[in-house]
Amino acid sequence: MADSASVPMLKHKDLLEIATLSREEIQLILHTADSLKDVARHPIKKLPTLRGRTMVNLFYETSTRTRTSFELAAVRLSADVVNIDVGISSVKKGESLLDTARTLEAMSVDFIVMRHAASGAPHTLARNLHASVINAGDGQHEHPTQALLDCYTVREKLGGIAGKTITLFGDLLHSRVARSNLLAFTKLGAKVRFCGPPTLCPREFEQLGAEVHHDVKTALAGSDVIYVLRLQFERHRLGLLPSVRAYTQQYGISTDRVKLAKPGALVMHPGPMNRGVEISHEVADAPQSVIVDQVANGVPIRMAVLYLLESGRTARAASPPVPAPMGAAA
Ligand code: ASP
Repeated sequence: MADSASVPMLKHKDLLEIATLSREEIQLILHTADSLKDVARHPIKKLPTLRGRTMVNLFYETSTRTRTSFELAAVRLSADVVNIDVGISSVKKGESLLDTARTLEAMSVDFIVMRHAASGAPHTLARNLHASVINAGDGQHEHPTQALLDCYTVREKLGGIAGKTITLFGDLLHSRVARSNLLAFTKLGAKVRFCGPPTLCPREFEQLGAEVHHDVKTALAGSDVIYVLRLQFERHRLGLLPSVRAYTQQYGISTDRVKLAKPGALVMHPGPMNRGVEISHEVADAPQSVIVDQVANGVPIRMAVLYLLESGRTARAASPPVPAPMGAAA
């Protein structure tokens, strides 16, 4: 929801999922990232937009790329950043998620970036706090900023998303990236295919709008993008795969398999990669691979999200909702 009158903004207080973003809001984030991407090339990599604002990174699951990328994005917009190490915080003493978040808010935090193993955890915080909550991955549900940076990368490399065929391979069942990307790519007009063994890629995904394939050859034919997902061993129950080796033989993305897609098809992966399992070393480092570009694009995308949420916060503060007259129906 851009404010057509003047300053671009997201009117939601929080960024929790792609599901509730409109196509126009996604496009607004991508356009805003275009103008922020240049900042990384300036000798002084800073804009004053978030001066005086504080962002907290609250990660209950491990992260390298996402946490660092949010931190860099905030720092480049001049915010102060605090990283909470959950391993040595009061969470270890059994403090509830909400108590931890309320403690942070009591110290006047403006943005909380959160990753949690439970789907919906950031939504709970968002409902209970004034701070803007950004979902950096909740369980198997969504990872919205990953999808946004992936859309940005496809648009940058292929000139657009509408009409493209984007095929995601691997552990679709446990992947929050798969869900967010399916929603974002389809909202922007792409055709999305999911491919993996039936235990990791059930037919139910068809109800969400994905074409489901269990055969790599047919899935790759005509693909503009080969998007490889990590096997999320930490979320696996026993019996999902006969063996890791069998998975690699049947579904691993090798140089020969890349040739089955459209010539010049992009190869993507959200990281961290299990090299030699879901993707070969050669494919990961091939010229068609844009995995490093995905990481680089994470910073301007997260800057755009912070910038647009901040514009919305400023607009709300300038014109708070008018209280209903006494006696009016609730
Ligand atoms: N980094 C992504 C996530 O947090 C993908 C992965 O872990 O496989 O969901």
